[in-house]
Amino acid sequence: SPFCQYQAFGDTLGSVMAAVEALPDGTVLLNADMELVWCNQTASNHLGLNTLTDRHHNIINIFRVPEFARYARQEDWPSPILIHTHHNGGTRALLINMTRYGPEDFLMVTRDVTQIEKLETMRRDFIANVSHELPTPLTVLAGFLETLAETPAEALSDEQRAQYLNLMREQANRMQAIISDLLTLSTLESQPQGDGGPLNMTDIIRASLDQARALSAGRHEFKTDIDANLHITGMANELTSAISNLINNAVHYTPPPGTITVEWKRKPDGTALFAVTDTGIGVATKDIPRLTERFYRVDHSRSRATGGTGLGLAITRHVALRHDGELKVDSRLGAGSRFSIVFPARRIVAGLP
Ligand code: ADP
Repeated sequence: SPFCQYQAFGDTLGSVMAAVEALPDGTVLLNADMELVWCNQTASNHLGLNTLTDRHHNIINIFRVPEFARYARQEDWPSPILIHTHHNGGTRALLINMTRYGPEDFLMVTRDVTQIEKLETMRRDFIANVSHELPTPLTVLAGFLETLAETPAEALSDEQRAQYLNLMREQANRMQAIISDLLTLSTLESQPQGDGGPLNMTDIIRASLDQARALSAGRHEFKTDIDANLHITGMANELTSAISNLINNAVHYTPPPGTITVEWKRKPDGTALFAVTDTGIGVATKDIPRLTERFYRVDHSRSRATGGTGLGLAITRHVALRHDGELKVDSRLGAGSRFSIVFPARRIVAGLP
């Protein structure tokens, strides 16, 4: 930065200035008239300061944001101010803190809190979602319990009683599924990513296929194209859940008599591909980017009918990432979908021990 001729200062001052320059926070020094004296590179990036031309200009005239001007004019600054600025076509959240230093100079520190704000929003949304998802089955369950408790035994036929119990079991299962998926997600998030060991992928895929065939109960045609000699390193439990999520979804979202194709093969570029293709209801283009969001479902009632939690694809995406892979979705409304995970070539193992 042109301001920073550290060499001109003494040795100590020079190294202090170099340290300030290296800070991840922006630092701005202002004189008694709040004119720019010096700033580090981070601050010039945060506030859009031009270190060549802005020197000796009042900060309020350089960083032209009304809330900031009001903040800067305060007598003192018991707390920082949060300001949103436009940056690279997006919004950036900046935390700005002004203090006095020396006899009458001012020090401004700026911190980019965009990421923290985003995480905070995600956390809030997530809690809002969970507290919306669990009460629904709980309310239904409680309703049936009350009905059963208040209806005289002789007023209910065995059939009615069985039906109520069934509906209650369904709701209990639903809550159990949500909680179990939430636990899976939080485990995925809290555990460090490991390479895992060599896995027999054919076994994992076949086990998931057996499950899906049972779920389909003969209503779908299954096709497979599986390279029994293709194996990768990874975490067996994670991949099992990702693979069975994708195959089960194909069953859930394909009205019979549809076809479900499962592929596991090496691609010409050396990567390993797992793909599930169905001839089901498909997904509209606008919904595709949102499918892996937690609790996102295109059609709530359909997802509920299949016992879905809305967390399956969030888990699957996470597992793919933890295996250096990527979950891809190709789909057309009414025509069918293809969900695939591509694993990098370096995860492929020559043979199983
Ligand atoms: P769910 O438990 O609701 O199935 P997922 O996270 O597995 O949750 O999927 C999210 C949403 O993506 C589903 O509710 C559904 O709308 C859509 N979806 C997933 N797989 C398919 C598919 N094979 N075909 C059509 N839509 C799908």
